[in-house]
Amino acid sequence: MRRLILAGGGHAHLSVLAALAKGPLPDIEVVLVTPEVHQHYSGMLPGWIAGHYRQQACRIDLRPLARAGQIRLETQKLIGLDADNRLVTLSDGRRLDYDLLSLDTGSEADLSGLQMAGDKLLPAKPLTRFFDTWPARLEQARHLPEYRLVVVGGGAAGVELALAAQHAFTQERIDGRVTLVSSGSGPLAGHGRGARKRIRRVLAAAGIELHEQRATGTEKGVMLADGTRLQADCVIAAAGASAPPWLTGTGLKLNEQGYVAVNSHHQSLSHPQVFAAGDVCARQDVPMSRSGVHAVHAGPVLAANLRAALEGEPLSHYRPRRHSLYLLATGPRYAVASWGPFSIEGKWVWYWKDHIDRGFIRRFSR
Ligand SMILES: Cc1cc2nc3c(=O)[nH]c(=O)nc-3n(C[C@H](O)[C@H](O)[C@H](O)COP(=O)(O)OP(=O)(O)OC[C@H]3O[C@@H](n4cnc5c(N)ncnc54)[C@H](O)[C@@H]3O)c2cc1C
Repeated sequence: MRRLILAGGGHAHLSVLAALAKGPLPDIEVVLVTPEVHQHYSGMLPGWIAGHYRQQACRIDLRPLARAGQIRLETQKLIGLDADNRLVTLSDGRRLDYDLLSLDTGSEADLSGLQMAGDKLLPAKPLTRFFDTWPARLEQARHLPEYRLVVVGGGAAGVELALAAQHAFTQERIDGRVTLVSSGSGPLAGHGRGARKRIRRVLAAAGIELHEQRATGTEKGVMLADGTRLQADCVIAAAGASAPPWLTGTGLKLNEQGYVAVNSHHQSLSHPQVFAAGDVCARQDVPMSRSGVHAVHAGPVLAANLRAALEGEPLSHYRPRRHSLYLLATGPRYAVASWGPFSIEGKWVWYWKDHIDRGFIRRFSR
């Protein structure tokens, strides 16, 4: 019997699992390798920090999906891959061969330059670890006077995390201060001027101190490029992504940053039996940002292509749209929408986001 291995239960693989639940592949053994049985949804993490959601509402249980698709679940991490010999190594040491492999294992938080912050450091990813660790940090904040939280990273993740944490502090009357450190291009670089302006105003209104310089970790917190030292009790690392180190030495063609190089079918450029989607891959034909939006949208194409590859049918293309819609939660039930050069904000934007996010979880929950 031929074997399809799905590594990671990430956003793109959710569509693959849902497609297999609707119509299992005949005469193919499908194996899902995932370290956790729950897939957390990053879109709802800020809402959880802000106190709007319970953790259970922000995650998808992969087990019922796997059962419905007659998929064997291996609660393991994939730690090695020999692409030439079509073999993967699981964290318990077992090796599995495959006919087709699909990777959706995400990226890692980029901690470069921040490690000196030691125990104070809290990476935004993996999400499960963040969900597990944040309550202890909040508890610490409840007891320490003038708790200082520094969020490093001015992208959507850093901005939302800073605003959510500030909201949680305010709601709980915690004596805490949140500082956001973005790169020199300021928060939400790459978004339209309007969205950037709105977010600056929202950050200022929330009382969040903003620094626009590169930060490096120190034993006491972080140091900015101009030498300013910011003391911190907790440093959240949300400054971009880095490629999983285990990809090196797999034989797969990687791009310069170490991500799996794929074409418009999300198929490896070096090994046609390997597909990859989400943060773990890098499209070589078009520039594509590493975001949940693309991971989600590539999912149905990936699902169709895995089936087509097994049946010897032609493959489809994933064509990323020019602009992605970002709905940025700002702490309270209020959000900013950013789409290309356009932006808008309001309570209704938050409820719109809430509707989309809950719908996403519902779509994959059995
Ligand atoms: C706080 C925050 C807010 C964000 N907000 C937005 C936003 O508003 N819009 C947006 O588009 N993007 C946003 N992002 C980015 C978005 O979360 C990622 O781009 C998205 O999660 C990528 O999806 P993925 O499927 O590639 O990986 P992931 O969602 O990270 O899923 C990867 C899965 O693979 C598993 N895995 C990892 N390693 C292995 C392994 N070795 N073997 C097997 N399984 C493995 C993991 O456990 C996980 O379940 C945000 C990120 C954060 C942290």
